[in-house]
Amino acid sequence: MTDKKLKVLISADLEGVSGVVHPQQTSPGSPDYKDAVMRWTQELNAVVTGLRETGVELIVINDSHNHMRNLNNSMINNAIVVSGWQRPLSMICDVDKVVYDACFFTGYHTMAGSKSTLSHTYRPRVIKEVFINKVQVGEIGINAAMAGFYNVPVVFISGDEDTCHEAQGLLGDQIVTVPTKKGLSRYAAMSYPFDLILKNLKLEASRAVKEKEKWKVYKVTSPCTLLVTFTEPNHADACELIPGVKRISDNQVEFTHQLYPVVYKCFLAMGALAVSREEVIT
Ligand SMILES: [Zn+2]
Repeated sequence: MTDKKLKVLISADLEGVSGVVHPQQTSPGSPDYKDAVMRWTQELNAVVTGLRETGVELIVINDSHNHMRNLNNSMINNAIVVSGWQRPLSMICDVDKVVYDACFFTGYHTMAGSKSTLSHTYRPRVIKEVFINKVQVGEIGINAAMAGFYNVPVVFISGDEDTCHEAQGLLGDQIVTVPTKKGLSRYAAMSYPFDLILKNLKLEASRAVKEKEKWKVYKVTSPCTLLVTFTEPNHADACELIPGVKRISDNQVEFTHQLYPVVYKCFLAMGALAVSREEVIT
């Protein structure tokens, strides 16, 4: 048991779950989707069990995939589930409301451009690259910086091997990692035995909250500059309309602000605007 009752926020994505390798498994309504969500739920229950056994008093899970209404809260024990979209702070909702002790990223994936399993950054069809203060980041970095602004360390991540390495490279070797699979290409992976993954998730979740001396908050320096490269210029055309956003090149825009939450919200707005300008030239 830990000395103080802890509060943990889980940002839960689907692409990094064991056995998930293709968009047909991650798209609501497609035949393989239900099976993927079932495994996702089992993985989350393993993490929650590990946290509860260590005495964590509050566990809030952000359903952070697609339209964010994937998880059935009646199938998840002992945790609050945040569902639905649009919502403030997207994948890391509530980090600004409760004083959380630690944040977990589960089922995560590598940044857009990586050849590993189902890599992308927020909006797969429109966002090609994201840089914060010249450091290239994906969802790990973008969301860890948001937690960091509120002094919450990201202490645990699960996903494929490359995702775990991306997290260690950016957030430090101290982060507890649970690899679920080894990516072979963007749509192929070698998944580890599921019973072993569930066991590791439970054990390592417990360990992550016990080893408080290793926790490290990820901070981006202020002022903070966001640079986004879109897949096509029409996405940048739209984002240039946001006050304060500068056009850098045909398909790049930049935004600078003292406060990271303002930068993060601007990034969310850019994503929404960019997808509204998707067109196929035939
Ligand atoms: Zn994602």
